[in-house]
Amino acid sequence: MKWKKCRVCRDKFEVELPKQLVCGPTCALALNEIHRQKEYNKETKRLRTEFDSKDAAKQKDLTKTVFNKMRVLEEKKWFRDRDLEPTCISCNKPNMDFCCGHFKTVASQGNLRYDRVNTYLQCNKYCNSSKSGNIEGCKNTRGYKKGLLERFGADEGGWIIDYCEIHTEVKKWDCDELIEMRKGFAKIVRELENEAS
Ligand SMILES: [Zn+2]
Ligand SMILES: [Zn+2]
Repeated sequence: MKWKKCRVCRDKFEVELPKQLVCGPTCALALNEIHRQKEYNKETKRLRTEFDSKDAAKQKDLTKTVFNKMRVLEEKKWFRDRDLEPTCISCNKPNMDFCCGHFKTVASQGNLRYDRVNTYLQCNKYCNSSKSGNIEGCKNTRGYKKGLLERFGADEGGWIIDYCEIHTEVKKWDCDELIEMRKGFAKIVRELENEAS
């Protein structure tokens, strides 16, 4: 006599037929339903991916997430390589919940949204969110612009600021370009995550 565990209810049952997976008719029906649902989910997922691959707004968004993640990792590496503690470009504080802060905002110069020259480590809550990037600074903080000059020096910092001011051309990416770019960013993310761990 051979015993098996039912795929559905997990009870033990006596095997009567070759390749029997379930204990009886009720569980056999349930197993069929599970397979049907799995196929259905697979097909839904395939259709959704196919649909999304033609949705530019969606692709822009997905690419943004990976780019921003890459920039945070690249920036942390920049500090690590110099034995410095990572700090916010605008308020210069360490130990913050950091994000990728755009010097020229995505709303004002969307063409620089995936541009390294335009993006540096920034504290998420204060400078990025509540101060909209904290570009010009305020009473207690230097601000993004001064941060660039202090961190990179007058020459390089000045060059960065000029570059962002000059590049105002409108840029559009099609879905294929966005997907390709995202693949490149994701590869760097993987490498930097491996390096940091
Ligand atoms: Zn069963
Ligand atoms: Zn800050």
